[in-house]
Amino acid sequence: MTVKSRSKRDRVSSLIDTIPEPLGAVRVAAAQPDVRVITIDNPPVNALSFALSEELLAAVEAAERDTSVRAVVFIGANGIFSGGADVNDFATEPTDGTVTIRDVVARVGRGTKTYVAAIDGNALGGGFELALACDYRVATARSKLGLPEIKLGLIPGAGGTQRLPRLIGAQDALQMMLGGQSIKAADAQKKGMLDDVTEGDVLVAALALIARVVATEPKRRLSERTASLGVANLGLFATPFVVAQAHKMVPAEENGGFAAHKLIDAVQAAIELPFARGVAREARLFDELVRSAPSEALRHVFFAERELSNIPGLPAAEALAIHTAAVIGAGTMGTGIAITFAQAGIPVIVIDPSDTAVEKARATIFGMFKYQVDKGRLTQQEAWKLANSISFEEDFAAVADADVIVEAVFESMDVKKDVFAKLDTAAKLGAILASNTSTLDIDEIAAATNRPERVLGLHFFAPANIMKLVEIVRGKATSPQTLLTGMKLAKLLRKIGVVSGNAFGFIGNRMLFAYERQAIELAEEGVSPARIDAVMKDRFGFAMGPFAVADLSGLDVYRHIERAAGEQLGRIPIVERLVDEGRLGQKSGAGFFRYDKAVGKGREPISDAHVDDLIAQLAGEADIARRADISDDEIIARLTSTLTETGADLLRTGVALRPGDVDLVWIYGYGFPPHRGGPMWYAEHA
Ligand code: NAD
Repeated sequence: MTVKSRSKRDRVSSLIDTIPEPLGAVRVAAAQPDVRVITIDNPPVNALSFALSEELLAAVEAAERDTSVRAVVFIGANGIFSGGADVNDFATEPTDGTVTIRDVVARVGRGTKTYVAAIDGNALGGGFELALACDYRVATARSKLGLPEIKLGLIPGAGGTQRLPRLIGAQDALQMMLGGQSIKAADAQKKGMLDDVTEGDVLVAALALIARVVATEPKRRLSERTASLGVANLGLFATPFVVAQAHKMVPAEENGGFAAHKLIDAVQAAIELPFARGVAREARLFDELVRSAPSEALRHVFFAERELSNIPGLPAAEALAIHTAAVIGAGTMGTGIAITFAQAGIPVIVIDPSDTAVEKARATIFGMFKYQVDKGRLTQQEAWKLANSISFEEDFAAVADADVIVEAVFESMDVKKDVFAKLDTAAKLGAILASNTSTLDIDEIAAATNRPERVLGLHFFAPANIMKLVEIVRGKATSPQTLLTGMKLAKLLRKIGVVSGNAFGFIGNRMLFAYERQAIELAEEGVSPARIDAVMKDRFGFAMGPFAVADLSGLDVYRHIERAAGEQLGRIPIVERLVDEGRLGQKSGAGFFRYDKAVGKGREPISDAHVDDLIAQLAGEADIARRADISDDEIIARLTSTLTETGADLLRTGVALRPGDVDLVWIYGYGFPPHRGGPMWYAEHA
């Protein structure tokens, strides 16, 4: 059979003729004589790959041809409806013979039977688009629906941008797709996205619904509706006004907003064009995006995350169970880490001898959970329960039952060694002992115990309950089981856990020190810190510029690390000088920039001529030539290539395992713009 030379239709019919049911990843069964159930079974997430779409289309065609069938139910195996398209397929240009989920959705949309999506678990991306093409949707209460394509720099490409606005109004649909967040079944039902939500069996609910509707309203195609704007009537100008506002609210095309602008265009088409033309517009926009540099970069990030759990050469071992935790130190980091445990449902005991620190920690925790209640993210009871799962103790004996203990005391080797020696006595034998140190040697810390194989670094980022990154530092004695438990813990805490070797500054800070130094060199050559920050933030897309980052971390901390590191870092005169002047950064109201309580709650950097003069003076003393011709491009090139070169060094020396790991560290820990793929990807693809 020469499949490729035949049209898509021929190919499908030949499949139906030649492949007996059940087909590979799609199972077909009759729930009742006139109801056909098509089960999507492609573990783990029922991805709608090209291959699966072909089977699905064949199953739909067969149902359409069978005159005894009145209704078709789609359902997912593996505890999920479908996680959406197979991201691997985006790299393959579909040929004439390829069947994609777009074809399946289009066929269902034109279908003559009553189609029902019976959703249990997530219905995301193409999975939700398939559900939208159905006449009815029912779901279990635990299910979630969403169109997260924007996170991969894409838009829904199987009719989602046209059907969702017709279902819930353009404004709500746009908001949901721009955020890429999924929505819980109960909320989805309130918005009219689901016809029924059940606590019981979803197939039973789907069959009951069919029995109710099949005689009265068997077909209910969204494609036959018009999309309302979903906002108060603004007359003739409503659509252009809302569209213009939407374009203004998302980042610029070249700065991470490429897909967002296309999404707005697609939704505009849903309001203004007939369905078929809107779908054609969506397809064109999708095809353009799937080949775009930002989407390729975001897909690289997606795959890099999936690679994280693969540690080459790691002997097989089983991660330990984690039921309870302890944190040593109730400072900035300890408090954030304790909140992170609580939010993951792991009760945590915090040890700190300082009453002042404990009082402050309690206030922070209370404030954080209150904020969640105010925002409607938690109920009073949930917040109360979470806050109560964090308890404070003075005595190390209280850690006796903890499965994992994270130390977050002062950054001093003596203090840490003392803490680990005490933990060695107080912790149970199987416990994992972790340090949150930023720069100290994990092996030296581990040597303070009689169980170095149980010790590793878990380097969280501030604020620990918000930042997604954790560097998992593998000491020379860290056992495979300890490492795997650390990796499992990162997942439980919903963090991105990147394994790093035990080298000064690990992956992230090692690169940060080189990057900050390069920023200071640029300043010494005559570019103001304010300009450098503006270029890296506004033009390149970092969350913050390098000088604002230094001010936030604290210049005293920086100087302390510099001095402790000795040869490895060397002293930076401007940092020494600013600290001598009492300019410690944001916390003291001045560092490289000034901060004013009246401006952005004291967090907004304000440029300071005094610092510019100081840098010029120090540059003069060091005989550094000042240049007036440093372009924005040069600023970006020098700073990003410093990151890449340092990252390459870390890869060469085995501190980082893969370029993708370095990219994840900088995206999730340091605000590198994700649409540029991280420093290593950027160097190859910019
Ligand atoms: P911090 O000064 O805010 O808190 C340290 C806390 O440890 C204090 O509350 C202190 O009372 C307590 N403490 C000191 N000795 C103790 C002991 N023997 N037993 C119990 N508690 C003790 O410091 P931080 O900013 O939270 O930093 C803690 C650790 O986290 C350091 O190793 C630091 O390098 C690392 N870290 C900090 C950041 C950051 O941005 N602040 C980021 C990543 C890692």
